[in-house]
Amino acid sequence: MMNTPVIVTGAAGFIGMHVAERLLDRGETVIGVDVFNAYYDPALKDARAARLQGRDGFKMIRLDIAEHEALAALVKASGAKRVVHLAAQAGVRYSIENPFAYERSNLAGHLSVLEACRHAGVEHLVYASSSSVYGDRPLNGDGFRESDPAESPVSLYAATKRSCELLSQSYAKLYGFPQSGLRFFTVYGPWGRPDMAYFGFTEKMLKGEPIEVYGEGKMARDFTYIDDIVDGVLGVLDNPPETGGHEVYNIGDNDPVGLMDMITTLEAALGIEAKKTFLPMQPGDVPATFANIDKLRALYGYQPKVKLADGLAKFVDWRRGYARD
Ligand code: NAD
Repeated sequence: MMNTPVIVTGAAGFIGMHVAERLLDRGETVIGVDVFNAYYDPALKDARAARLQGRDGFKMIRLDIAEHEALAALVKASGAKRVVHLAAQAGVRYSIENPFAYERSNLAGHLSVLEACRHAGVEHLVYASSSSVYGDRPLNGDGFRESDPAESPVSLYAATKRSCELLSQSYAKLYGFPQSGLRFFTVYGPWGRPDMAYFGFTEKMLKGEPIEVYGEGKMARDFTYIDDIVDGVLGVLDNPPETGGHEVYNIGDNDPVGLMDMITTLEAALGIEAKKTFLPMQPGDVPATFANIDKLRALYGYQPKVKLADGLAKFVDWRRGYARD
């Protein structure tokens, strides 16, 4: 299959750009699909796309994945047998004010990808889900497992991500093409998303402005460095389930870190002490996330490698070198 292209939806996004780059690094041909939405700084998406477009073997198609006829025609004409579907309307808090963006990109968009894949005879669809499907749960000894209940989403974003998993489950049973859903845990790193806490805090700290610490600083997240996420995506892509199979995998660091510890680590990476304003939890936020990664380990020996201090230092290096504004 190495000579057929891989389609990566959301290729102008944070994770999509990195996945596309790694696929190109190993000699694959990649077709990126992205609508370049204006959820955050469009210049950042343009810069990511420009990086990819400078590479041999890459082509970017500007398309809304919910345009199902156009997407189906594209997938079929490409000859692709593998699709990595990362396009989505991301963000938990934004979903409360903008529900219909999630209906279009995450529900209609996912269905459109499923239809396109089945008509084109795609042999493995790997798609992004989210740790948010686990809902409001306390930290426990060895983390959230894929077999744990995921039926109580506390944000519209989480509800759409869980819905994608259910749609995929039904399509795998109905049409047989293998699918793998990836529950990513708080991804960070160079070329990251400005709407995420570590990135927003960095911008404020560089300007000497106070940062807003939600949940009074008591939240914990399983922060996962982008290269470890990409390792997981490619590892799963290369190990499809059998025909008719649909598997869901956590991809995380397996080491939850308190928000205040993350801030202390970021302060050290930046060499700046943050001024902090403490605020209550925001609607839709969960207190903690913690990935159990036994299932992915068992699949192919997955092991995250980059700890938070090193990963944030890499992010800060990138941010200092990236010309913005
Ligand atoms: P991102 O917003 O940087 O990337 C998503 C990309 O999808 C964007 O470039 C956007 O323009 C594109 N897109 C949105 N709607 C589209 C549509 N209708 N048609 C075509 N393109 C569209 O987000 P990301 O952090 O790279 O996330 C990638 C995937 O991983 C998403 O599915 C997200 O929900 C999921 N995820 C991310 C995280 C994280 O911490 N970053 C955690 C859990 C899950």
